[in-house]
Amino acid sequence: MDLLRYAQERLRRADALIDEITKEKEIACGKGCNFCCFGVPLWVKPPEALQIAHTLNKLPIRERKEIASRLSAYRREYREQSRSAGYEPASPIREEELNVEKLGIVCGLGMNDVPCPFLDQESGSCRVYEARPLMCRLTLYRDRGICEEDWKNPISFLWKKEISPFIEGIKTEFHKKWSAELRKMEENFPQLDIAYLEGYVLLLPEHLRFDPIRKSFRLKL
Ligand code: SF4
Ligand code: SF4
Repeated sequence: MDLLRYAQERLRRADALIDEITKEKEIACGKGCNFCCFGVPLWVKPPEALQIAHTLNKLPIRERKEIASRLSAYRREYREQSRSAGYEPASPIREEELNVEKLGIVCGLGMNDVPCPFLDQESGSCRVYEARPLMCRLTLYRDRGICEEDWKNPISFLWKKEISPFIEGIKTEFHKKWSAELRKMEENFPQLDIAYLEGYVLLLPEHLRFDPIRKSFRLKL
């Protein structure tokens, strides 16, 4: 499927770019390190959502069912916290319409103990690691101790931006170069509306649905 091929190519290029930007930098992040897997809603682009669904469908059925029920619980929790913060975004929404302050209220006051539905809490690792979205790939720390403190105190992380210059620097550099990569991909995939795919964000638990008959995840875009 072209969209899946696009999603795979997109991640390959994003990884190459992140490697290039961080090659001289000290990075403490690694598989199994997961302070950053708590409290932040999974906002993703449609191709990322598709690739995550594809990865989930390769897991054993027992794990798929467990993730399906965690996604439902996450969806309920997020809706409840959003409502109490007075924040109910339409979904999908344009990226620039994301209200970071309200999102901060949801993360900081209600969700900070809530793990991402894809986190395997026994092993502490991400069950969609190869398909994890850019928001996870671009959260990079130099020091795990500082990271742990920040994620236990997300209000300072989101609002005061005490730790952000390092991450923000990487993100800014990434996004400057990323638009050129997207243009190249438009040439390779002329049949896809890449502007649409990249222009919208989805709250993944809202769009990823488990089909109990086929026992597989499908995207409702
Ligand atoms: S951002 Fe923090 S928790 Fe996440 S991988 Fe990096 S050091 Fe570990
Ligand atoms: S997708 Fe994986 S890396 Fe990203 S927050 Fe969830 S468990 Fe963590």
